[in-house]
Amino acid sequence: MKKIVVISGKGGTGKTIFTASLTDLIPGPIGIADCDVEAANLALLLEHVDLRSRPFSGLEKAGITQDLCVGCGLCKINCRFDAIECQDGEYTVDPVHCEGCGVCVDICPEKAIVMGPMRDGTIYLSRTSKGLMSHAELCAGSGTSGLLVDQVKKEITGEMGDEKALIADGPPGIGCPTISAVSGMDAAVIVTEPSVSGLHDLERLVRMARGFDIRLFLVINKYDLEPGMSKKVEDYASKEKIPVIGCIPFDQAVVDAVRKGIPPTRQDSPASQAIRSAYDKLAEMMELV
Ligand code: SF4
Ligand code: SF4
Repeated sequence: MKKIVVISGKGGTGKTIFTASLTDLIPGPIGIADCDVEAANLALLLEHVDLRSRPFSGLEKAGITQDLCVGCGLCKINCRFDAIECQDGEYTVDPVHCEGCGVCVDICPEKAIVMGPMRDGTIYLSRTSKGLMSHAELCAGSGTSGLLVDQVKKEITGEMGDEKALIADGPPGIGCPTISAVSGMDAAVIVTEPSVSGLHDLERLVRMARGFDIRLFLVINKYDLEPGMSKKVEDYASKEKIPVIGCIPFDQAVVDAVRKGIPPTRQDSPASQAIRSAYDKLAEMMELV
């Protein structure tokens, strides 16, 4: 099984649209994972039926038993994350700010504080026309998205048998969620746009990805909006020996497809043809067919 993740240096580059197109073009059955848990939009472009869901708990958070608390304030003074609030003499923990360090548990003279699981999100397993898809919703304020990405990947790989490929939509950027998404994958397709900041983000992303045993491919989206910058991106890719598998033009048909909630490859348009060509190159180099 070939495991391919689609990533980008920042959000809004067309990464999810390209991922949805890949899943549309590759012969099934495949596994699909939406690892962009902070902006999980892949399911919006892939018709699916939810099969099951389960709660996700990341770090344990502190909780105060009011009956035992005598209001000494030691927990609030010693919480360096300012996660403990006091209102009208009642001490409570703000779970958004609690980092689960456990200092307050140790310091409370009344043993009034205990650590416990806190719901950070929900993981879903759904059926699409191409195979099973795992995806998730992260609760607002939860800081455990790297852990959730790992769980989303495990949710799908635990269900896969002899599928040829796992296609994952990765998070943007170079943070913990992206590292979690890239880890253990065979290849990463980086989707970038031709701009100064896009090139800068691309360079940072490539440096991060080089820390993994992973093949890299590049797609330049809306390449025709800034031909000069596209050339710089291609020169950088050449220097880094990263194959540019696709240059996708700006195309109103892509916007229309997203509005309809379908991958652009369901329609014939210049962008759709460029995505098909990129897929053909990827399929050949990754021996997907
Ligand atoms: S340290 Fe314990 S007893 Fe003191 S305010 Fe905090 S929870 Fe209450
Ligand atoms: S566990 Fe740590 S971060 Fe959370 S409330 Fe206690 S001291 Fe603050």
